[in-house]
Parts: sequence; structure tokens; C-alpha cells
Amino acid sequence: MEVNGTLIWFYNICKREVWLMARGIVPDQNDENVDLGKFMHEHSYKRNEKEITFGNVKFDILFKSKDKLVIGENKKSSKYNEASKWQLLYYLKVLKKAGVNAEGVLVYPNERKRVEIKMDEKSEMKLDKMVDDIEQLSILSKPPKVEKIPFCKKCAYREFCYA
Ligand code: SF4
Repeated sequence: MEVNGTLIWFYNICKREVWLMARGIVPDQNDENVDLGKFMHEHSYKRNEKEITFGNVKFDILFKSKDKLVIGENKKSSKYNEASKWQLLYYLKVLKKAGVNAEGVLVYPNERKRVEIKMDEKSEMKLDKMVDDIEQLSILSKPPKVEKIPFCKKCAYREFCYA
């Protein structure tokens, strides 16, 4: 299983969901959030349909500031700011591995807010640990226990978890 930005995002929301996704367990097909891509898309603020793809990494902001490359995403709300921050840091790491040093920015147009994201040694180590944890999680024979969190209300696996 290849760790990607979506798994990093969900790791910061619910580890049980990461296990379910990594195992390819199909959520409730009738749930409005069943398409995780759709959910992520709906929580992104798209000013236009431009999206930049680099390998399995996608972002919609790319510009040069002084001598730095900046990548980022427009988001509808900062509700999931922490998860979005780690997802963007993961993207920065993917670019770094490819020899591109970049910085990140999360933009919340509805809140007139922007958060600059920079990779440092501490966050890089934390991110490496997240990737290891996701790999370890995915080979567990059982999923982590259900922990009731606000996100459960939006989760396509809620029938599975609360049946
Ligand atoms: S319903 Fe809640 S506990 Fe279950 S996978 Fe979704 S977020 Fe996690």
C-alpha cells in the first residue's frame, strides 16, 4: 500500500478510517460521502479548475515568491486545518525528495485567512513517523477501536462502525 496525501489527511482525523481505507473496505455505497475524493473536493475551495499534478500529489496554488517556490491549496474552511497542514507537508516532502524545495500555503478565502506552512526538521520527523504508523496500521489484523469524534457524522463508514 502506498501512503498518499489523502491517507495522511485521514490519519490526522481517524486512524480507524485509515485502516478501513488501506484494507480497501468499501463504505456504505448509499452514503453521500462515499466518494472520498468527492468529500475532499467539496472541502476544497476551487476558484478555478486549475490543478497542478506532480506524481500522486495535487495542489491548486503554485507561485514563486522571491527565490522560493510556493505550493498550496484553497480550502472552504479551516475546520480541518491540522489535517490539511500535514497533507501539505507531505506534498512538500514529495517535492523535496524530487529535489524541489518548496514552501506551502493554505488559503481560506471565506475566512480571509492564510496559513504559511514550512517544513522543518521536527515536522519532517513527525511526518516520517506518520508514514510508518500508516504502514503499520494497514497490516494490523483488526482495526483500531471506534472513537466517537465529530467527523463520524460525515463519515461514509459510520454504518460499519456503529452498526
Ligand atoms: S465512523 Fe468515525 S470511527 Fe468510524 S471510521 Fe468514520 S470517523 Fe472513524
